[in-house]
Amino acid sequence: MATYMILMGAPGAGKGTQAKLLQEKLGIPQISTGDLFRENLKNNTELGQLARSFMDKGELVPDEVTVAMVKDRISRPDCKTGAIFDGFPRTVAQAGALDELLDDLKGQINIVPFINVKNDAVVQRLLKRAELEGRADDNEETIRTRLSVFREQTAPLLDHYRARNLLVEIDGEQSIEEVQADLLATIDNM
Ligand code: AMP
Repeated sequence: MATYMILMGAPGAGKGTQAKLLQEKLGIPQISTGDLFRENLKNNTELGQLARSFMDKGELVPDEVTVAMVKDRISRPDCKTGAIFDGFPRTVAQAGALDELLDDLKGQINIVPFINVKNDAVVQRLLKRAELEGRADDNEETIRTRLSVFREQTAPLLDHYRARNLLVEIDGEQSIEEVQADLLATIDNM
């Protein structure tokens, strides 16, 4: 059976790092909407140009645009056996759209690990990432916007998936290896 998983967590919680490790271990692809947008920015596509203004401000790219991009990505053959969604869905509307997209693939969300990290800790991590990676949207003002967007638009999804018995909380303030071990144990117990 295919395994479709959503990694939830605030910006800086470690979703990307963990999704990459899980992708290797489980042999199913990571789908990071942030990475897909950044790739489009780099290649200067129409989609990239559209996304840029939102990303630069730390705001969400409109749902229709984001969902269309994900639809295109998950229709590729490598997603038939599952996928690890990283940074998607980020709104209630995106969550509804994802259910429909998976219906078409005869799949469903199997598990939603939530990597929980306290607000102060994510700010520190994002500022450090800004120094190391120089990501354009890792400056203090944008970080503040991204965290408030998370609280207002994305955090309601935690209750949405909790109510569906899919949410599993993971302590994201442990080491990368410990978080990964917890994630794998959670998936084993699914
Ligand atoms: P991330 O790398 O996941 O932190 O995403 C970087 C930026 O890309 C976000 O601040 C948004 O502007 C945009 N983005 C990524 N994923 C989504 C999404 N699911 N919905 C809307 N915008 C997104």
